[in-house]
Amino acid sequence: MEWIKGFLKGFATTLKVLFRKPVTEQYPEYKRPLPARSRAVIILTRDPDGEERCVACYLCSAVCPVSCISMQSAEKEDGRRYPRWFRINFARCIYCGLCEEACPTLAIQLTPHFETSQRDVLKLVYEKEDLLVNHGGKNKDYNFYRHAGVTMVGDKGTHINEEEPVDLKSNLP
Ligand code: SF4
Ligand code: SF4
Repeated sequence: MEWIKGFLKGFATTLKVLFRKPVTEQYPEYKRPLPARSRAVIILTRDPDGEERCVACYLCSAVCPVSCISMQSAEKEDGRRYPRWFRINFARCIYCGLCEEACPTLAIQLTPHFETSQRDVLKLVYEKEDLLVNHGGKNKDYNFYRHAGVTMVGDKGTHINEEEPVDLKSNLP
């Protein structure tokens, strides 16, 4: 008897939706706005000073489960690191977002832009020129170099966002 109950329940669900008005979106004429945090094509962003945020630390490349990020690091005269070249193979990328999670400078970000299909698979290999944009993406105001990567200025506890040093002995019972 149990199987009849399951059988009828299945049909009841079918009947319930059978006469419902279908929802058809006329893509590509109509493009549904996607949430800002949707994960598709990756960009390399710049900080508010216009400098490229990426410091070529290789963390995104190390964490990528399909090894589709590669780069070569270089250093400017003032010691600031940057990627001499930076490459993402979107034919392998699974848009998991782990690279974005790992990035300490918020340089690498996924965007909602997903219309990138190509017949020639090699066109899915993006170089730094294709990835680097002229804005800060989702985190416009963040400037990594104002928080870290610079020479210590002033005494301990006086740097931006740094807490006052504590007296360890005062914490003892
Ligand atoms: S989204 Fe995932 S698969 Fe794609 S580059 Fe980033 S870590 Fe790799
Ligand atoms: S994008 Fe971010 S995690 Fe990747 S190398 Fe540049 S700074 Fe490091």
